[in-house]
Amino acid sequence: MAFEGLSERLQSALQKLRGKGKVSEADVKEAMREVRLALLEADVNYKVVKDFIAKVRERAVGQEVLKSLTPGQQVIKVVNEELTRLMGGEQSKLELKSKPSVIMMVGLQGAGKTTTTGKLAHYLSKKQNRRPLLVAADVYRPAAIRQLEVLGEQIGLPVFSLGDKENPVRIAEEGVARAKEEGHDVVLIDTAGRLHIDENMMDELKAIREKVKPDEILLVVDAMTGQDAVNVAESFNRELELTGVVLTKLDGDTRGGAALSVKAVTDRPVKFAGMGEKVDALEPFHPDRMASRILGMGDVLTLIEKAQANVDEEKARALEKKIRTQQFTFDDFLDQLEQVRNMGPLDELLGMMPGMGQMKGMKNLQVDEKQLTKVEAIIRSMTREEKQQPEIINASRRKRIAAGSGTTVQDVNRLIKQFTDMKKMMKKFSAMSKGGKKKRRGF
Ligand code: GDP
Repeated sequence: MAFEGLSERLQSALQKLRGKGKVSEADVKEAMREVRLALLEADVNYKVVKDFIAKVRERAVGQEVLKSLTPGQQVIKVVNEELTRLMGGEQSKLELKSKPSVIMMVGLQGAGKTTTTGKLAHYLSKKQNRRPLLVAADVYRPAAIRQLEVLGEQIGLPVFSLGDKENPVRIAEEGVARAKEEGHDVVLIDTAGRLHIDENMMDELKAIREKVKPDEILLVVDAMTGQDAVNVAESFNRELELTGVVLTKLDGDTRGGAALSVKAVTDRPVKFAGMGEKVDALEPFHPDRMASRILGMGDVLTLIEKAQANVDEEKARALEKKIRTQQFTFDDFLDQLEQVRNMGPLDELLGMMPGMGQMKGMKNLQVDEKQLTKVEAIIRSMTREEKQQPEIINASRRKRIAAGSGTTVQDVNRLIKQFTDMKKMMKKFSAMSKGGKKKRRGF
């Protein structure tokens, strides 16, 4: 998980202050020394770290913090606020004003530019009801054009291309003209990257910018490359005046340096974060939520949004009724499992829950996706009657289900027991909510 090391170290540095009734200046100094090391180790730009620590220290040793009733908590609050500010404060949204609005996607090869172009188009069409046209102008990386076409098919959006023999400036220009003709309100141009920053690339990008007058020039950088990503951002910004940055691969085990330094070094905000290889793995970047995540305070808002996007409300209501009336079956169980899986990798979801990082044993908990696949296979090997009425599953049926799902009878037994226990729990809960306060107190 991204930020894991940083998160742990920051939390342990601040933990010492948390419980204290009285905090001295020396305590703050000591904690800040650890915070500083944690940030440097996470590959945050050293100048950024220096300014950050100076600011936090100044605020933290102020009277209103040290003399407050909960000084430890107040210091953590200051760190949280300053981390948020470091990453840009408010969320920076896209500014798409023109008709059509042009977004130039720029970046070096391998950063995730083409993938992100597809993801962003998908995001704009799904979340903002826009009608994007994708333009394939990356003529340098072999297969980039085909890759964008495949992505377009996958997300059901058109891709404009003229092959890889054309000049990218012309491709961009004709792409925008096509968008106008066909009534698209936003055009995403996958421009040509290179392996390294070079003059040709910058000249070409400038020429495209002059022709298509983009509302947004977004630089795609790989968060895993740490300070290199920040240096790349600085160069691109100097030449092109970016409007924002997209950090990719934040789902990997990046130490966090890029996410924390890009805004401070380039003064350009991170607008989106890539959280995986799939087309829907792109999230708007919220500095406040990211700071909370890093400090182990969870990111409940993103979690709720994910749940809302993936849970079918009608189904949820039907499920609630089933639980109330004791009609929950293995079919419903499977349904639930699928909905949770659609929300993303489980360890990522757990990371968004407050306090999870600090819980004993959580660190070593590998959420076993294979186990889930097993459960799924077992349920799918049941007959319709068995799913609806698990009590009929006798020994010979268990044997058949195990054979059918490639598991053992013990696996099947365990699942059925878990299911029965869960049903019992549900019964208790629904009795509890019906019984009102009196009963609840006794529970
Ligand atoms: P380009 O050369 O910049 O166009 O790079 P691509 O779009 O081809 O991406 C390079 C590789 O990074 C591909 O294997 C992508 O699947 C992968 N990738 C892109 N974004 C992400 C991300 O957010 N997370 C992960 N894990 N992989 C990503």
